[in-house]
Amino acid sequence: MLWRPYGAGWITTVSLFNKQIWDTGGEQHLRNQWRNERSLFQVALRCLIEQGAVGDYPRVDKSLLSDEEQELEVQYGHKRIYAVGHGAAADWQLENDQVKLIWCDFLTSVEVPRVTVDGVPGFDDVLRLSSWTRFTRDEANDRVLLGQLEHFVKTYGAWIADRRVEANSRSPDELPPANRIVGRMETAYSRMLCGLELLQRDDLARKAFRTANRAMLMQMMQADSNREKVPGADSYRWRPFQLAFLLTVLESAINEHDAFRDLVDLVWFPTGGGKTEAYLGLIAFLIVWRRLRFSTSGGGTTVLMRYTLRLLTAQQYLRATRLICALELIRREDAALGSEPISIGIWVGAASTPNTFAKAFEAVKRARGGHQDALKGLVLDACPWCGTPFSADRSFAASERRFDFFCRNDTCEFGGEHAERLPCNLVDNRSPPPSTSRPAAASAEVRCPAWWSPTTTVTRHAASPITRISGRTTSRSTASLSQPASPPSPFRREIVPSMQRW
Ligand SMILES: [Zn+2]
Repeated sequence: MLWRPYGAGWITTVSLFNKQIWDTGGEQHLRNQWRNERSLFQVALRCLIEQGAVGDYPRVDKSLLSDEEQELEVQYGHKRIYAVGHGAAADWQLENDQVKLIWCDFLTSVEVPRVTVDGVPGFDDVLRLSSWTRFTRDEANDRVLLGQLEHFVKTYGAWIADRRVEANSRSPDELPPANRIVGRMETAYSRMLCGLELLQRDDLARKAFRTANRAMLMQMMQADSNREKVPGADSYRWRPFQLAFLLTVLESAINEHDAFRDLVDLVWFPTGGGKTEAYLGLIAFLIVWRRLRFSTSGGGTTVLMRYTLRLLTAQQYLRATRLICALELIRREDAALGSEPISIGIWVGAASTPNTFAKAFEAVKRARGGHQDALKGLVLDACPWCGTPFSADRSFAASERRFDFFCRNDTCEFGGEHAERLPCNLVDNRSPPPSTSRPAAASAEVRCPAWWSPTTTVTRHAASPITRISGRTTSRSTASLSQPASPPSPFRREIVPSMQRW
């Protein structure tokens, strides 16, 4: 036990040594036995405080900390630390704000309070998706809604202003990290104001935002109706952080000259908080906006999504596909969105899915021969829109030259005996055979789904069909000289859903 004077008290270090002398002689197995019998396992040290008081453990000189550590000190500096472990963790028990017991622990445990998704009350209208599906139909209604949206954003701005006042009252050594934290909030706020202004001034952005909200609402309602839940349309809401994220990134998603264009925006929120909906909303907006802005050359691949966890891919692909289905249904009734179907593709490598038409055909033939597990590699096992399970005999059009999914449920908007193929692709050797008689738009769509989700390493990613698709998209764009301009590169922004801070 070591007592070192510190201020008006001491820093006390409690250590445990195993002072046995190592016997290096004898047979190896005897040496091992000797060592094992004299080793200390699962050591516990506990200090009961009988007299005096345990004060705060001295914190590290802030100038020695990294920027991030300094910021954590600012954010969590009010949390009191009474002990630190060396090669172990330390924990303590308080009674009436006094430390009564300190012990070393292999891994401390603490209950982390839930992050709430609720925001300030009173913004029901702006958070309701159905409010935005009525957007751009009535000027007076738009003014009210945009006014409420402005209030929503400015309420966040007012909260940040309070944080700025707080930061300014910090000690000189805490001021720089406090300024950095508040500076980032202010940047996010100014970007939200840009998003708001975009919706106030730009007709196309307004229409794209309305359509994105409609597609999101449709796919949420469809998912619930498949589970036999049917809440009214007005009960579907954005969580405040989702709407805030959308406003933050709208301008940089469509404006190639925006100062934040090259910044990768990460959505951070605990699992189950709604990150997926946040970026699905952005994706819907971008797919629609490109088609409205660049007409026929606005199709092609808009989104490239890469998952690092293969486990999540099928589930995320299903959610993504449902959104694409909703967008495709909207496109079919809105000529402004072009004649090219909106579709999605997935590329996870030959180990998980058939990467050629021939292999997909082979899987279907095996399933038709009674080997149902041959269909596992097809990722989807049911219609992504209505949930009707696929059957080997009726749900696939497979041959050496094509592979398509079909829904045969008469009540499904994608279903029935004469239904069009579902807007999802699985096989990535998409080049149509030379003898095909597909119309141009259809063959273009076959090559370029609006959304492509490869799951692979970076190296394989580079060799993936994305490169081929990219080239085709570009050549199609530049060939359309009558269009106002080429659409922004679809591969500039990669959206990565993950637990990361932004
Ligand atoms: Zn269906």
